[in-house]
Amino acid sequence: MIEGLNLIAGDWEASSETAADINPSNTGDIVGQFARGDAAAVDRAAAAAKAAFPAWSRSTIQLRHDILKRIGDEILARKEELGRLLSREEGKTLAEGIGEVARAGQIFLFFSGECLRLAGEKLPSVRPSVDVEVTREPIGIVGLITPWNFPIAIPAWKIAPALAYGNCVVFKPAELVPASSHALAEIISRSGVPSGVFNLVMGKGSVVGDAILKHRDISAVSFTGSVATGRALAATAVGCDPMKKIQLEMGGKNPMIVLDDADLGIAVDCAINSAFFSTGQRCTASSRLIVTEGVHDRFVSAMTERMKKLVVDDALKDGTHIGPVIDQKQLDQDLDYLRIGRDEGADLAAGGEILNRESPGFFLSPALFTGVDNSMRIAREEIFGPVSAVIRAKDYEEALALANDTDFGLSAGICTGSLKYASHFKRNSEAGMVMVNLPTAGVDYHVPFGGRKGSSYGPREQGSYAAEFYTTVKTAYSHNLN
Ligand code: ADP
Repeated sequence: MIEGLNLIAGDWEASSETAADINPSNTGDIVGQFARGDAAAVDRAAAAAKAAFPAWSRSTIQLRHDILKRIGDEILARKEELGRLLSREEGKTLAEGIGEVARAGQIFLFFSGECLRLAGEKLPSVRPSVDVEVTREPIGIVGLITPWNFPIAIPAWKIAPALAYGNCVVFKPAELVPASSHALAEIISRSGVPSGVFNLVMGKGSVVGDAILKHRDISAVSFTGSVATGRALAATAVGCDPMKKIQLEMGGKNPMIVLDDADLGIAVDCAINSAFFSTGQRCTASSRLIVTEGVHDRFVSAMTERMKKLVVDDALKDGTHIGPVIDQKQLDQDLDYLRIGRDEGADLAAGGEILNRESPGFFLSPALFTGVDNSMRIAREEIFGPVSAVIRAKDYEEALALANDTDFGLSAGICTGSLKYASHFKRNSEAGMVMVNLPTAGVDYHVPFGGRKGSSYGPREQGSYAAEFYTTVKTAYSHNLN
């Protein structure tokens, strides 16, 4: 069993309070016991980061490149072992766990390259004998607060750019999945990063997260999590003195349109993958399947046939397609929405049953509602489980209007054989990410990730666009005296 400590100022620190990390596939299996820090721990971490910042922010890009490359290389070399740990604590399948770890490694390697590509601009001034330079500088100490559904990839896509651009970090992972973050912190601590540059403070959102948010010396906070928490965080951040720069990645109610001319096999693959894989616990999951009349019945019957073959079981077992729900609270939320859907008059065409497996875990069969109206709560609110809703549309125009009729705007997909509809949808979808004949979930690591409306707030994450959040711009004027 792992005994997980906080990493503060280069030292591993115990905490008076600890919490168990429980395997959702087998609740009798305790992954480890992890420190739960407090506001004083955040204070020490911020002080260490403040002390480390002057040297780190001026360190060479070669040093930062080498450190990030070492981190990425070690993650990739250990992807099977770390993937197993991730799947054990989070419940996604082993293939998904290993894939997520590999992605975290690739992100560090991408940003090791980005260290070497930080350019500025030199421009003529509108005034005579004056030059203007626009450069990017680190913002200072950044607080990183992450959710449980991607225990290593989301931390990686915040930590890697934070360090690449010369910032110091105070990182708080989600309470339910500290083991992957702890393993990542160990790798970072051995990478040659100076003490205090990177600090891990595990603990509760209401304690550690809140202290990060309110800390005077922390200049910016990047958060991924629920809309309710994100909204509250943003309000606090602007009320702080000084005000904090903030980046929020929140929920989704992602539509996937299936048109009459779609390849039915591809459409069903895309829908099964993005609605149910990773137990539907992805902010990019397709929770609204908007299907035009001519293909509706064939699509529903192909979906329900495929759903019968999906194996829901222990995440680490060979042959499992869908692991458990993360915990009892999330399972209760999924079951609540199954009840709400039925009460609203939708038909539960398949799934939605609690399943008993060899070990005690939170197993739920993937559920598909049909006869759903876009105004129903199951079509408007994020469920964050293996539950999807089929909404019937007359034609492409109605499908597009339904897809955009949502408070969210993270990812949106269309399955069609028509270039005309595909390109119209790419232009007219009100989502930050658009997928044609691809699942709404599953994105590349070298391009921006993020959405519109209630899904995201602040600059995009990932790719070279990450610089927008993790740097601040300086405009310098100089009068040429000779
Ligand atoms: P979820 O319920 O899906 O985990 P949350 O938005 O509650 O989503 O949590 C996302 C992250 O935000 C977690 O790391 C959590 O600990 C943290 N968090 C929760 N509440 C607060 C808060 N009041 N202040 C700062 N961070 C918080």
